[in-house]
Amino acid sequence: MTTPTDSTNCLFCRIVAGELPADVVASSDNVIAFRDIDPQAPVHVLVVPRAHYGDVAQVAAGDADLLAEMVSLADQVAGTLADGQFRLIFNSGPRAGQSVFHVHAHVIAGEQLGWSPA
Ligand code: 5GP
Repeated sequence: MTTPTDSTNCLFCRIVAGELPADVVASSDNVIAFRDIDPQAPVHVLVVPRAHYGDVAQVAAGDADLLAEMVSLADQVAGTLADGQFRLIFNSGPRAGQSVFHVHAHVIAGEQLGWSPA
């Protein structure tokens, strides 16, 4: 699904720019990772590209290397803050639970996870 989106008044663009505070736990050239404000697990980190894309399909279509960099940083976060095992979630579209329309991967880790998330 492609969600119409732009960077005007984008919450995560403002965090990336340093205009709003965040608990940043890792970063790379094009991606930052910060703790979710409402954690659902002992480790709940959002991995966010500095560039604005609306959802994961837009990143995949526009810059596949950036998507790979997001996954790599997620793996690094899980290895640093947990035991290296993690769940990676991209909510894509409102019906899937996406509420911030700047693509982000949820890194969920730090405990035995249940299934299913739906
Ligand atoms: P989504 O629902 O779009 O998949 O995920 C958005 C996530 O962003 C939610 O888990 C929510 O708790 C988190 N969030 C919303 N506002 C803020 C904020 O201002 N700071 C941080 N660190 N996380 C936020």
